[in-house]
Amino acid sequence: MEEKINNRELVQEYDVAIIGSGPAAFTAAIYVSRGNAKTLILGGGNWGGQLMLTTDVENYPGFESILGPELIEKMKNHATKFGAEFVPVDVEEVDFNPPAGGPFVLKAAGMEYKARAVIIATGAQTLWLGVKGEAGLIGRGVSSCAPCDAPFFKEKNVTVVGGGDSAMEEALTLGKYAKAVTVIHRRDSFRASKIMQDRVLSNPKIKVVWNTVIEEILGEAKVEGVSLKNIKTSELSKMPIDGVFVAIGHEPATKIFQGKLDLDEKGYIKKVRHDRFGDKIKMMTSVEGVFTAGDVHDHHYKQAITAAGFGCMAALDALAWLDEAKSST
Ligand code: NAP
Repeated sequence: MEEKINNRELVQEYDVAIIGSGPAAFTAAIYVSRGNAKTLILGGGNWGGQLMLTTDVENYPGFESILGPELIEKMKNHATKFGAEFVPVDVEEVDFNPPAGGPFVLKAAGMEYKARAVIIATGAQTLWLGVKGEAGLIGRGVSSCAPCDAPFFKEKNVTVVGGGDSAMEEALTLGKYAKAVTVIHRRDSFRASKIMQDRVLSNPKIKVVWNTVIEEILGEAKVEGVSLKNIKTSELSKMPIDGVFVAIGHEPATKIFQGKLDLDEKGYIKKVRHDRFGDKIKMMTSVEGVFTAGDVHDHHYKQAITAAGFGCMAALDALAWLDEAKSST
């Protein structure tokens, strides 16, 4: 593998490099490689994105019910079938200012990859609570992934923090293993979709503690409990617990793009209209030839299917841009 990557790195330049490996990245790869562009996917060492942390996906058209990791594997196979090359390494740096007309240079795992266009689909990662005790107990009872860790909590008492769809999913997954699940939410209503709320609220194993936050996660070698504060009454309490699952949202994976591309106030990549292309190209970033797709630029919809749709749009825009660049040289 190493040798193959070395060979490829020495001789090859790509039309399009895609950074990421979720639905946006693989959809973009299918479209650009079918569009006859030489395509490289730099998928990340820990590849697959948020779907790898999901169990049943029931809202991806064509699949009434499929496991998240299985869906991702199918997408990867679909993309590589059309010729996209997949390399599971983390991109460390991108040179967005190559010499005039030259390709962008992407550095990853000691290699340099060159590409005329880049599609960034790096997604978004879990947010943590940031309370006392949390950091030291991650992996020792503190988790952000019920599908990964729920089997460790068979017949145990666990808590889930958050009131969105992720929290509902975590609670339902844990409900299949744990003795009891307590959802702790800082307000008196969930923001999750109605169907997910209904499933949680009607599950006899799951109870909800409203208007409450965790102030500290207790335990030395492993989680033993949580300190709670009711934010309406200021009442303090302690709850013995074996596991804490944090599901309070995500942050975009844009660290390596800071100062290089325009980002919004939350760090998501901004799409920028370039006058030269009018409204014909919608998914371009502040750097011409660099496009974005999926959760790394979208903090609203965040669905596998919307990410895939954005991946398709970014790919069509990248192909149009490459054509335009070709015809103007
Ligand atoms: P989210 O919708 O942003 O919900 C985050 C939750 O965490 C909110 O209830 C928020 O409380 C709470 N929260 C945030 N910061 C907190 C803190 N410091 N302490 C305590 N609580 C905190 O995030 P998400 O659930 O990850 O969902 C993100 C998007 O993905 C949504 O659009 C969702 O629909 C989608 N999603 C869909 C599925 C599916 O369709 N199967 C599954 C998962 C996610 P407040 O409500 O008070 O703000």
